[in-house]
Amino acid sequence: DKVLVSGANGYIAMWVVRSLLERGYAVRGTVRSAAKAKFVEEYFSGLGYTDKLEIVIVEDIIKEGAFDEAVKGVDAIAHTASPFHPNAKTPDDLIKPAVHGTVGMLTSALKHGTGVKRIVVTSSCAAVLTPLPTPTVFSETDWNESASREVAEQGDNTHPMTIYRASKTLAEKAAWDFVEEHKGALTWDLSVINPPFVFGPAIHDVASITALNLSLLIWVNMLTATTPKPKDELLASNSWVDVRDVALGHVLALERPAAGGERIVVAGGPYIWQEWLDAANSLPGDPLPGHPLYKGDPSLLDGDKTYLVSYDTAKEKRILGLKLHTMLETTQDTLADIAKRGW
Ligand code: NDP
Repeated sequence: DKVLVSGANGYIAMWVVRSLLERGYAVRGTVRSAAKAKFVEEYFSGLGYTDKLEIVIVEDIIKEGAFDEAVKGVDAIAHTASPFHPNAKTPDDLIKPAVHGTVGMLTSALKHGTGVKRIVVTSSCAAVLTPLPTPTVFSETDWNESASREVAEQGDNTHPMTIYRASKTLAEKAAWDFVEEHKGALTWDLSVINPPFVFGPAIHDVASITALNLSLLIWVNMLTATTPKPKDELLASNSWVDVRDVALGHVLALERPAAGGERIVVAGGPYIWQEWLDAANSLPGDPLPGHPLYKGDPSLLDGDKTYLVSYDTAKEKRILGLKLHTMLETTQDTLADIAKRGW
């Protein structure tokens, strides 16, 4: 079977492509430029995948019909391409590519993807959680209602991360609406993956540590901080998942019949930043030569731990059944990877 992966050069998507190839699928990836195509092709030919990977260029996912050619002849689609950065100047910077990219992919699949049986869209826990001051366990029944409302109220003055959360919420809603509107005319069904913060080793093209994708950059900045962080930052908490688990989650969501029509939170667990620091500092030897690991204040975790954002992952366990990486494994593998790159 052949799977189309949009934004194939991204942090998560590279691992999605790798999981697919490892499981014997043929892959057609889309990227935005020839240079990005070259990187992806070279990386996977280095792993011995030469004839099962095809990269095509889709320069502008907002353009109508952008994916019309790319969907032809594939059996399934993983749509991951969407902007995730803190530099939005206006809501449209993120919302347009997120929503039009998603609806465009579904429209192309409806019109030209005659062989497509399943589409998996990478949404986010940003489309699930509404930030609350008290510890909360969220699940797939929850929708982020606040971000798009804030964007509507504040326009260009909206915080860029709120714009991002709105972009993911609106894109996922648009996907489900599309399916509802066209039911009866579709050869495929939809499955949505909602990951929280994604950490773990990078195999995409990263020129320097400062050019890392946003979630991994935040993680690396914390672990290698050189000036002490205030207590509230060390105790700040959220939920996370390893990039390799979220990638395999996409593949299993393409394979498992029960994933059809479902949004699925794929989360490893909640964390407090100090826990990542303790995990890193518990590793033997010198995990990141040249960069002392930040210790934070381990005594902060002596009392009760408060995790602000957790997820009920019963659905993931029932439908996908992933064996998730632990915090220690993810820390070790990520630091080893960064050390190997010599950053
Ligand atoms: P990356 O920034 O590494 O990858 C994003 C991908 O989307 C790249 O291929 C990028 O292409 C493409 N893309 C971004 N903006 C556009 C645009 N305007 N038009 C066309 N393509 C675009 O991030 P991640 O791998 O982390 O993100 C992948 C997906 O996962 C996104 O949908 C994101 O929202 C979602 N996600 C990520 C989480 C995380 O913690 N990392 C958590 C939850 C969800 P290019 O390289 O050319 O810019």
